[in-house]
Amino acid sequence: MAMAPSSLPATTTPHVLLIPYPAQGHVNPFLRLAKALHARGFYVTFVHTEHNHGRLLRSRGPSAVAGAAADGLRFETIPDGLPHAELDATQDIWALCEATRRECPAHVRELVERLGRTEGVPPVTCVVADGAMGFAVHVAKEIGLSAYLFFTPSACGFLGYLNFDQLVKRGYVPFKDESCFTNGYLDTPLDWIAGMISNVRLRDLPTFIRTTDADDTMLTINIKQCEVDAPAADGILLNTFDDLERAALVAIRARLPNTFTIGPLGPEVSPPSYLPSLTSSLWKEDDRCVAWLDAQPADGSVVYVNFGSITVVTRDQMVEFARGLAAAGSPFLWVVRPDMVRDGEGETLPVPEGFAEEVAGRGLMVGWCDQEAVLGHRATGGFLSHCGWNSTVESLRAGVPMLCWPFFSEQVTNCRYACEEWGVGVEMARDAGRGEVEAAVRELMGDGEKAAGMRRKASEWKDKAARAVAAGGWSQLDLDRFVDEIARAST
Ligand code: UDP
Repeated sequence: MAMAPSSLPATTTPHVLLIPYPAQGHVNPFLRLAKALHARGFYVTFVHTEHNHGRLLRSRGPSAVAGAAADGLRFETIPDGLPHAELDATQDIWALCEATRRECPAHVRELVERLGRTEGVPPVTCVVADGAMGFAVHVAKEIGLSAYLFFTPSACGFLGYLNFDQLVKRGYVPFKDESCFTNGYLDTPLDWIAGMISNVRLRDLPTFIRTTDADDTMLTINIKQCEVDAPAADGILLNTFDDLERAALVAIRARLPNTFTIGPLGPEVSPPSYLPSLTSSLWKEDDRCVAWLDAQPADGSVVYVNFGSITVVTRDQMVEFARGLAAAGSPFLWVVRPDMVRDGEGETLPVPEGFAEEVAGRGLMVGWCDQEAVLGHRATGGFLSHCGWNSTVESLRAGVPMLCWPFFSEQVTNCRYACEEWGVGVEMARDAGRGEVEAAVRELMGDGEKAAGMRRKASEWKDKAARAVAAGGWSQLDLDRFVDEIARAST
């Protein structure tokens, strides 16, 4: 499978250091990229935080991160600057963003230097860091390496972040006071953002603008990533494809011309059979899911419910979801992470009493699943999702329409685009009760005109996504262009 980059002299092996932000939605696309680069003849070092490396070792055993050091794909770790106990209790991305920016630059520099002294390892020639680890660009540049940023959100979400500075300059952000959260202010139209759909509102932009504090951590970090880190990089990578987000990409390229669209980073780019033991899944999948789906007689009959790796819900919301799902009548596969229910400590599955018996045979609840296997299964017909970018793009790639229940960050932007622009989604209110959940699931899974239209659109996006990553597709060509560029920069 290994192929040398086309312009690479035989004597040189370029060495790419990949530094994802330490969260599930970031390490997944980064591991895909790692395998794709390794398959093209690069030496790759993948950097986990010690915490996540430990989690992978515990849940998967050594083969998940042992890598194939001899074959040029190795794993290294750096501390993330937070006490482990704190991370085990919560996925506090605010604390993690602050800590990584504070602690990691010195560790990245030390790692590059150490790898340079390690026998049998070619010197690092290029750093590809997560947009949320943008500090690494400056470290790389100081050492004289080429440096790229891989922003793992959608292009429309990234465009939202790119406009945070304008929102501040134009006085929309920070919010005047707490009343702005409830008085309709979030519905303010924003028709001046080039590249965004015309009816975009303040509420559709990444939720980190929802603050009354000009010095808010996530607001200022995101501005810095876009204003300082991204322009310092040699190029930007996005896990999307041109057909899907053309207008947003034009606007992004106007500011950051060397932007590569390499998505969807699915099995076409990085086949599961390639270095199969290497995984980035921080939870262990419940392997009953596919067998359960196999046993469902009707194609497209199952509603799949999963809110990703960070969303938390209250116990009351869980009860409303449970009641709504049960009443809607479709078979369902519902993933509830062990740490998902905020006030449900001690309960493994905080659902109403008698619920399991009530839905026996037509509902399966698990703690984590192989999402792509579930979305790609013939029995899956709809996805009740928090609209994380990976989930959204995986759903598009599988041709599965969505019921959108965004939680935070650019998930609200993805929701708006899924519903308004791509025609594959219907939004469910944040405070939806059982009746609304039932009605929304019935609409998604039913035979109505809206659902039929969403299925048709989803199937069109599935074809377009496949074309983007097929030989000669735009994303394949951009990946080739990126590979050639970093290979050339290494000589
Ligand atoms: N995922 C998975 N199994 C699960 C839940 C999620 O494999 O039960 C994967 C999913 O396929 C996706 C990632 O975890 O690649 C979640 O990323 P996303 O951007 O959708 O959401 P986040 O977790 O960042 O909120």
